Amino acid sequence: MDHNRIDTSTDAIGASSLLTKNMSTTSGLVIPCKAAVAWEAGKPLVIEKVEVAPPQAMEVRIKVKYTSLCHTDLYFWEAKGQTPLFPRIFGHEAAGIVESVGEGVTDLQVGDHVLPVFTGECGECAHCKSEESNMCDLLRIDTERGVMHSDGKSRFSINGTPINHFVGTSTFSEYTVIHSGCLAKLNPLAPMDKVCVLSCGISTGLGATLNVAKPKKGSTVAVFGLGAVGLAAAEGARIAGASRIIGIDLNPNRFEEAKKFGITEFVNPKDYDRPVQQVIAEMTNGGVDRSIECTGNINAMISSFECVHDGWGVAVLVGVPTKDAVFMTKPINFLNERTLKGTFFGNYKPRTDLPSVVDMYMNKKLELDKFITHRVPFSDINKAFDLMVKGEGLRCIISMED
Ligand code: NAD
Ligand code: ZN
Ligand code: ZN
Repeated sequence: MDHNRIDTSTDAIGASSLLTKNMSTTSGLVIPCKAAVAWEAGKPLVIEKVEVAPPQAMEVRIKVKYTSLCHTDLYFWEAKGQTPLFPRIFGHEAAGIVESVGEGVTDLQVGDHVLPVFTGECGECAHCKSEESNMCDLLRIDTERGVMHSDGKSRFSINGTPINHFVGTSTFSEYTVIHSGCLAKLNPLAPMDKVCVLSCGISTGLGATLNVAKPKKGSTVAVFGLGAVGLAAAEGARIAGASRIIGIDLNPNRFEEAKKFGITEFVNPKDYDRPVQQVIAEMTNGGVDRSIECTGNINAMISSFECVHDGWGVAVLVGVPTKDAVFMTKPINFLNERTLKGTFFGNYKPRTDLPSVVDMYMNKKLELDKFITHRVPFSDINKAFDLMVKGEGLRCIISMED
């Protein structure tokens, strides 16, 4: 493939305006660029020169502008409890610009601003056709896959050695190849260094409240777990006009940061000698109207359900539990007209729905800036990992060009 290589100093995007639609100077060529490669579980990433092959049918190659780090990257990088897949390029929360498109891609063109999403929307399967589901059969998240759908190959290599993709996005690279069904088109006026956080955790929490729990104006909402996902659920409750938002976390350090998110009361289950669901029922005259669980802890899941009011209460599970966790509650809790739901990516269909979430930010309805607590240049990507390991801050934006 050496004859196809181009010089990295070529600015593929900058030159695109001179070229015809869907062509760039680098179109069809292998692009050598920098990527942060994870060679081994838990070891610092290494910035390497990788070669990024051109997009194949229904694929798009993008220039990543900003990416952020999410717990899912950390979890699979640590590779505790799953089959390790290395070397690998992690990263799935990001925003970028289309550099070139593969055969059959008609809805995106060179220069479009996009949000990559770890789960996709093929538009053809039963899930995509259902108004009720966002769990596309073809492009649903698959953390064990390290290659592209079309030919089972990786688009990344170093001296001919393939490097695995991660959840179809691999955004810790200056250029990456993504299935077109996993790219939401962005309003070109939206600041990419802010809206990149909408490509995973923030949309998940926000959608859990707005699309699934659906609190009415004036209602009381409990949020279990005050990480980025839980705080996004609280942001959804604020937008929906909840009058009380009760934040529950075992870590009191989370409460200070959470004060910016419209949470009106805080409960630490460790401060009580009775179950937290009982404490919440006492605070709310019988239970909350809506409850959103964003911890991944099975006990919090059960408490989040048992703290909703009988007759109308709805609890929504967002956290990802351990494989062996079992949810146990008395069936009478259901007979007393409580509802338990779960959600994946906040029930948003990535391509169809994310543009309207971006508009909510552009219209100042949704506040994103408060989620961004740190920024680092790409060369310092390991600092973003250190911050997350220490549990500091919410989102760290990694700028690809600094
Ligand atoms: P995080 O680790 O930053 O936050 C979780 C918080 O929960 C922490 O502050 C922790 O102290 C708290 N917590 C843990 N156990 C608790 C308990 N028993 N009671 C009260 N609080 C407790 O994580 P995050 O990035 O905000 O993600 C939250 C969860 O959402 C994770 O499980 C993640 O895997 C999941 N998630 C789900 C989806 C989906 O589509 N369903 C998407 C993204 C993330
Ligand atoms: Zn994520
Ligand atoms: Zn589909």
